[in-house]
Amino acid sequence: ADALGVADNFAKILLPPEFVRALSEAGFKKPSPVQEVALPLSRLGSDLVVQAKSGTGKTLVFAVACLERVDPAAGHPQALVLTPTREVAVQVASEIERVASGLPPPYISVGVFIGGVSVAEDRRRLRRRCQVVVGTPGRMQWLLESRELRGETLSTCVLDEADQLFSGSLKEAVERIVTSLPKAKQLMAFSATYTQDVQTLIEGHMRHPQRVLTVPRSKSAALLGVRHCYSLVEDAGDGEFSAKVAALLAVLSSVSFHQTVVFCNRQSDAQALADRLTRAGFPAAFISGQKPQEERLETMSAMRGFELRVIVSTDLVARGVDLERVNLVCCLDVPQDPATYMHRIGRTGRFGTYGLCIAFVNQNELLKLQACMRESAGREAEPLPDPVPEDWY
Ligand code: ADP
Ligand code: MG
Repeated sequence: ADALGVADNFAKILLPPEFVRALSEAGFKKPSPVQEVALPLSRLGSDLVVQAKSGTGKTLVFAVACLERVDPAAGHPQALVLTPTREVAVQVASEIERVASGLPPPYISVGVFIGGVSVAEDRRRLRRRCQVVVGTPGRMQWLLESRELRGETLSTCVLDEADQLFSGSLKEAVERIVTSLPKAKQLMAFSATYTQDVQTLIEGHMRHPQRVLTVPRSKSAALLGVRHCYSLVEDAGDGEFSAKVAALLAVLSSVSFHQTVVFCNRQSDAQALADRLTRAGFPAAFISGQKPQEERLETMSAMRGFELRVIVSTDLVARGVDLERVNLVCCLDVPQDPATYMHRIGRTGRFGTYGLCIAFVNQNELLKLQACMRESAGREAEPLPDPVPEDWY
């Protein structure tokens, strides 16, 4: 439960043990604040825009992401890191190597490809094992366009000092490189600052980018007066959804809520869940954007008339639900983007009353949830106490 409380070492953010060992050997004992947030997100494979002051340890975030992603058994380049200058390229490569050298074999090799070095040398290096390639835009573009380096096997692309890469003379080469890479790659950008224009430009190359912006933002008004908790459900593969349902039923039985909205991502889950809750004594209906408008209105009216106590919903209608007696929101899935999560939890505590929001999550989803909470609310969800204090809802 304290997995994300205070990350006093890298194991606390759930890095695999061989990475914890390698980082420790390289002298990295505990994550910096930006690493604590961005590392889990990068490991989930999300496209990422990270903004944090220089010197805060951004390099290690993508170093770990690249090393974990590449297949060490295969010798070909799989991850590409672009840097604006030769110096940064060399420095970044050596930091990645520092971590790589502490990992168990097979050894992952890092190559630097920059202007001013003979192309023959580059060729030689590419013919040997080299899973991670680090370099400057000009040389990289040349290597890719001359097919010395095959872009189609690069499934991870990092833009270090991204604002600089996307301005001035480098921009054209960077754009050409990024657009030539496979669609299904993971693209991550790191910088101390972004102008709005550059951030928009970068995100235009991404799919559902997650943002880690360490400049604090003001709290969303929807969050005032709402307590955010999570209930950790064991990762049990196939049985996971039913484990969440069991945890939900236990909560509904012990908390004397007025009415609740339960969110889950899949329509098929939502229907089964509504039936199950009704059988368990909590009259519930599933409302979906795919149901006829008439039926949706009936459901809402039954909820207002207190014939129903639970509405099970998918995202489609999340924004349409506005019920003042809802003082509990339950999430059985963590949505992909923080904005959707904020819309969901904005369903409770709407009228200055207190509300309680509980996310039922596995370990992976907990990482996502907390990152989302930190970004949107500037604080984390807390573990759900048992019993839940009476004055909480
Ligand atoms: P940035 O890219 O944000 O400017 P760097 O990745 O270059 O920051 O890191 C700055 C310095 O901090 C480097 O010397 C790096 O080795 C060191 N560093 C990074 N993360 C950690 C950590 N978790 N613990 C100790 N030192 C760290
Ligand atoms: Mg840096």
